[in-house]
Amino acid sequence: MKPAPFAYKKARSIDDAVALLAEKDSRLLAGGQSLIATLNMRLSQPSLLIDINGIGGLDAIALKNNVVEIGALTRHAQAERSEIITRYAPLLARALPHIGHVAVRNRGTIGGSIAFADPAAELPACLVALGGEIVVAGPAGARRIAAEDFFKGLFETALASQEMVVAVRMPAATAQTRVGFAELARRHGDYAIAGLAACARAAGRGVSNVRLAFFGVGDRPLRARRAEAAIERGDVEGAVKVLDLDPADDVQATGAVKKHLAGVLLRRVAAQLMERE
Ligand code: FAD
Repeated sequence: MKPAPFAYKKARSIDDAVALLAEKDSRLLAGGQSLIATLNMRLSQPSLLIDINGIGGLDAIALKNNVVEIGALTRHAQAERSEIITRYAPLLARALPHIGHVAVRNRGTIGGSIAFADPAAELPACLVALGGEIVVAGPAGARRIAAEDFFKGLFETALASQEMVVAVRMPAATAQTRVGFAELARRHGDYAIAGLAACARAAGRGVSNVRLAFFGVGDRPLRARRAEAAIERGDVEGAVKVLDLDPADDVQATGAVKKHLAGVLLRRVAAQLMERE
């Protein structure tokens, strides 16, 4: 199928993009890896596409005051090659190679992935696990939204209609940071049937401050707080038993299968969190 007719404008700056978003039924175009497919299938029919690819300075990756900040237009592939991300955002470094295939990662952007808010996507879960923030710009200026408050439901975020994502921020990893990541998909590069991104702090022989963010098992990345507490007690099997998730059936698997897989992932990720150098 071909998309319904639409107008096209290229934004020259963030302010320009925000001003254009005032137009009814307008939509930002970043890497196009999700949007173009929905247009072609006529799942979405915006009257105006605002191309943000020409906005300078939106693809920077920086370490500032122990925070890693990644511009919204950073391509997944660019992030994969970044030394700052490898060293200071190791959870992202583990997750990025699971996003689609090389061709998708060459075009897809960090901001697009966050704004699209697919419940089976890796990056939203990583940001929730890390206690990250999303920086958004709108007519009233910029604001920061905690990742846990940003993802509201199925493809639904806290973005207002005239706001755009300009960056994501997360605490830089320290020597005490422990991260874990695993997902189960039918083939490498497919969206996950179930996945888990996790972060913790080394504490003696165990871990504290455990944050588990499951994806593909709900309408958004989901924390599992009872399981987090059990992992902090060093009780991995207990964590699997109390795993506070109730996935629904979807096209990939039944809720029961997803719940079982979430337990499998939890054991694998707990082992990663407990690893010692
Ligand atoms: P676009 O497609 O350009 O935009 C997507 C949506 O986000 C649109 O509604 C757009 O208006 C909005 N948007 C874009 N940028 C912004 C912004 N800065 N501020 C506000 N709104 C914005 N993703 C995964 O996470 N995991 C996978 O396993 C995976 N597999 C894939 C496999 C295939 C074959 C394909 C085609 C895609 C896959 N993707 C996967 C999607 C990929 O990660 C996309 O890059 C991502 O979902 C959207 O990023 P984009 O830059 O292409 O955004």
